[in-house]
Amino acid sequence: MDTPLREALRRRAGARCEYCHMPERFAPLRFQQDHVIAQKHRGPTALENLAWSCADCNAYKGSDLAGLDPATSQLERLFNPRTDRWEVHFQWNGAELAGTSAIGRVTVAVLQINREERVAVRRELMAADLYPAS
Ligand SMILES: [Zn+2]
Repeated sequence: MDTPLREALRRRAGARCEYCHMPERFAPLRFQQDHVIAQKHRGPTALENLAWSCADCNAYKGSDLAGLDPATSQLERLFNPRTDRWEVHFQWNGAELAGTSAIGRVTVAVLQINREERVAVRRELMAADLYPAS
């Protein structure tokens, strides 16, 4: 039984990961509430600081707030689902997610969104026209 907070997060996110857009129904592991600003950085457990996340994105993100842009090696913050628009920072390149900004590139890298096994799952879902979910 999910808590009302988890239900609110799922509903707001359309039951897909707010980072990689994996539909929850195809994920092998239970989705998680991600603290966009981690609790160790004093981020509150409240809707305005939470994102609905697949287990992979949440695990690789951990408490990180930023990373090094693979293109420039400059420090850049991670994508914030509460304040940033996904379409501004990402676009699909087949089953791989491309960062179209420094924020997007850092997020794809830190969250390891293009790990081989994750791309393979997306490729299968795309072939079945089940991904990306609208
Ligand atoms: Zn994800």
